[in-house]
Amino acid sequence: MLHKVDVGTRSLRAYRGIVPDETIEELREAAKPLRGLRVLHLNATPYGGGVSELLRSLVPLMNDLGMRTEWEVISGDQRFFSATKAIHNGLQGSDLGITLEEEAAYEMTSRENAARLETESDIVFVHDPQPVALRALHGRDQARWIWRCHIDTSAPNPQVWEIVRGYLEGYDAAVFTMREFVPPGLPIARVEAIPPAIDPLSPKNIPLQEKVARQIINWIGVELDSPLVTQVARFDPWKDPFGVIAAYRLVREQIPNLQLALVGSMALDDPEGWDIYHQLVDVSQNDPLVHVFSNFTGVGNIEVNAFQRLSDVIIQKSVREGFGLVISEALWKGTPVVAGRAGGIPMQMAGGTGGLLVESVEECAAALLKLLRERRYATELAKHGQEWVRSRFLLPRLLLDEVRLMRACAGVSDE
Ligand code: UDP
Repeated sequence: MLHKVDVGTRSLRAYRGIVPDETIEELREAAKPLRGLRVLHLNATPYGGGVSELLRSLVPLMNDLGMRTEWEVISGDQRFFSATKAIHNGLQGSDLGITLEEEAAYEMTSRENAARLETESDIVFVHDPQPVALRALHGRDQARWIWRCHIDTSAPNPQVWEIVRGYLEGYDAAVFTMREFVPPGLPIARVEAIPPAIDPLSPKNIPLQEKVARQIINWIGVELDSPLVTQVARFDPWKDPFGVIAAYRLVREQIPNLQLALVGSMALDDPEGWDIYHQLVDVSQNDPLVHVFSNFTGVGNIEVNAFQRLSDVIIQKSVREGFGLVISEALWKGTPVVAGRAGGIPMQMAGGTGGLLVESVEECAAALLKLLRERRYATELAKHGQEWVRSRFLLPRLLLDEVRLMRACAGVSDE
C-alpha cells in the first residue's frame, strides 16, 4: 500500500458568508450524482509546496460532498527525487535534461510505487510529473485517470518531454492551470484549464488579530519597528531568491532600515532546496536586516499567515511559475504584492489589481520602492486584489470546476 495522508473532516457549510451562497448550492447540486464515487489523489509529498497545500483542504471537502476520497503519496529515495526534480525543471524548460541514470532511477521507483498502489478507485488524480508513470506501470483498471499538472509546461525540454509524454498515453484527461501551459503533442484528448485556489479557512489564511500576528513575528525573530518585505516560497531557482536579495539591496539604498524576510519550506521531493537555503544563509549572514527562515526553524502555516499579513509588501519574484498560491494568499489578507510576470501570477493580479508585475531586478526594486512610499496607493491596490481573489480564487470555485470535470469523466450528463 502507498502511504495514506490523514486529513480529517471538513464541512462546506463553513464557507457560507465567505463565498456566495449560490456557489455552495451549485456545488452541492452538481456533486449529487457523484455520491459514493471513489476518488484517489496521488502526489509526491504530504507537506511543502502548493499541491499538498491544496489537497489538505480539497480532499475533506470532496468527502463532505459524498465522494469517498483518499490522498496517497508515493515514496522514493534521494536518487528518485533528484530525478523527479530534474524532470520538473525540464518540463519548465530547463536546458539540463536528465541523465540515463536518473531516468533509470525514476522508472525503477515508479515501478515499485505502481506495485504498491491498490486502487479500487473510479477516478485517480495524478498530481504533477513525479507519480505520472504509475498509470502505465500499474496496468489497466476500471479507473479514469486524470493528470493534474500544476507547473508551466508550455515550452518543455524536448528530451524530458519525450519521456513524460510516453507515460501520459492512456490518461483520460489532463488539467492545466492555464491553456497556455498545454505542451506540444500532448497525447490526451480531454484537456481542461482550471486554476487552483486558496482555502480561506486553513490556518494559513484564517483571520488573525494584528496583536497576535505581531507576537508571532516577534517570536520568530523579526522586530516590526521598521518596514518589512517578504518572499514566501520554496528555495528554488525559479522563484529567484537571489534576484529578490539583489532588488532588496537596491531599495535599501533609499530606505536603509528596510528588512527582508525570505521564508521557504523544504519539501520532501525537493532536494535542491537545501543548497539554495545554505547559499542564502551565507549571503545574509552579516546583515541583521535580512532574515532567512524555513519550516525547520519554526515557520509553519500560522507564521506564514502572520508574515503575509504584516509585511508592508509581499514579493514573489518568480521567473517561471505554475500558479503561485502565495499571490492569492497575500492578496486575500489585504497585502500588496510585487511579483514576476510569470505563469499564473498575472491572472491573479489581472487589470492591475493587487500590486505590480515586474520582469527584472531593477523593475522589482522600483516597484517595491513605489509601494513602500505610496502607502495609500498600495492599500488601494491590495483592496482590489482581495475582492478579485474572493471572486475567483477561493476553494469552492476550484471544487466546482473539479466536480464538473469528474462528472464528464464519469459519464454523468449535464442537466
Ligand atoms: N509555503 C509555506 N511555507 C514556506 C514556503 C511556502 O507554507 O516556507 C506554502 C505557501 O504558503 C503556499 C505553498 O507553500 O501555500 C506554495 O505554493 P505555490 O503555488 O506558491 O508554489 P509551489 O511551491 O507549488 O511552486
